[in-house]
Amino acid sequence: MSNYPTEPEFEQAYNELVYTLENSSLFEKKPEYRTALQVVSIPERVIQFRVVWEDDSGKVQVNRGYRVQFNSALGPYKGGLRLHPTVNLSILKFLGFEQIFKNALTGLMMGGGKGGSDFDPKGKSDSEIRRFCVSFMTELQKHIGADTDVPAGDIGVSGREIGFMFGTYRRMQNKFEGVLTGKGLEWGGSLIRPEATGYGLVYYVGHMMEVAGAGDWKGKRVAISGSGNVAQYAALKVIELGATVLSLSDSQGSFIAQGDRTFTPEDIQAIMELKEQRRPLTDYAKKGDFKYIAGARPWVHVGQVDVALPCATQNEVNKEEAEALIAAGAKFIAEGSNMGCDLEAINVFEANRKEKKGDAIWYAPGKAANCGGVAVSGLEMAQNSRRLGWSSEEVDDKLKAIMKNAFQIGLDTAKEYVTSADGELPSLVAGSNIAGFVKVARAM
Ligand code: GLU
Repeated sequence: MSNYPTEPEFEQAYNELVYTLENSSLFEKKPEYRTALQVVSIPERVIQFRVVWEDDSGKVQVNRGYRVQFNSALGPYKGGLRLHPTVNLSILKFLGFEQIFKNALTGLMMGGGKGGSDFDPKGKSDSEIRRFCVSFMTELQKHIGADTDVPAGDIGVSGREIGFMFGTYRRMQNKFEGVLTGKGLEWGGSLIRPEATGYGLVYYVGHMMEVAGAGDWKGKRVAISGSGNVAQYAALKVIELGATVLSLSDSQGSFIAQGDRTFTPEDIQAIMELKEQRRPLTDYAKKGDFKYIAGARPWVHVGQVDVALPCATQNEVNKEEAEALIAAGAKFIAEGSNMGCDLEAINVFEANRKEKKGDAIWYAPGKAANCGGVAVSGLEMAQNSRRLGWSSEEVDDKLKAIMKNAFQIGLDTAKEYVTSADGELPSLVAGSNIAGFVKVARAM
């Protein structure tokens, strides 16, 4: 019995990692890493604070603010800030924990952290968002810095929020430094940062397809959930590479393509503008072209599909949905969201891998498949330190190399540490978890 409150999301992320480590030869080969596991499971520091702000009617509002500084063995704490009413310490500990190993897989020198607030940006005016961000940063600035902790965006935080926070930091600290990433281009941001998570995800899956002997993206039917930053750029990239986007969604429901009318770059562009104004997908003028299913996620509704990219939030694919995707022909599942699939869904994919051998589906966990976002954040930090900016091509080439490496290291590590039956595909979950963990354990 523990005297600690339960933290379901954090425990899920922790158990998922431990399961794969235990079912490999890692602890036999390196018994001392058991201690490293105990050490890495406790955040180095958790900062919790009160955020008081004033709404447009002059009324005082209050929210909870957090920063989990989880692990700095590989570099300054690095990870986003999430603004969403569901945010609590369990969710931020799960995200911070995942971030440690994700950041390790990028090959860049970044520790892991996460922060945010239970503030709900939905329905708030720009001024309210600004007042919240200024108040939030008034406290957070005491605890961060370009060489100590470098936050960025996550759900509910994009360029505008980063701008309000960066301005507050700069004025309060009297310092212009790369303390946040995801900044605007005119004030220290990096080209390709907004695109990076979605693009990186698509590059990663491209490597899965190549190794699976399944060709490239051309002609693939792709189910995507979400309609925020990750989903938008993943959709644009797969369309550019010749694939078809079958779905997009938000917290209220899903839009599903009908017949030949699939999502076009113009649809995505219009949806980006809606989202920028924090409006729901149901406000989209051309919504009549698509089937709308209120309150549902897309997975069981998309019909025949080759690739599924969960890009909304944690636990957005369950056991039944995982089974439905396999039945609908999906061969590649890769998480643009963090912990997009719940443990039972992962078990479905892993069982399929064991049973179907060479014909099995390929499943990639978020900490590997979506590391492109934080990777380009790392490149933004590098550009800030050197006070220069790289071209889109330079950043995109580096992103491609990082994604290739994140894929390869997962594959190679699975082969090294996990015994598999003849013809069985390597487990990218196990390989990525072990590879990320070993890097951090060694550094600690
Ligand atoms: N929130 C993103 C993630 O989950 C990006 C974090 C960052 O750029 O620091 O990886």
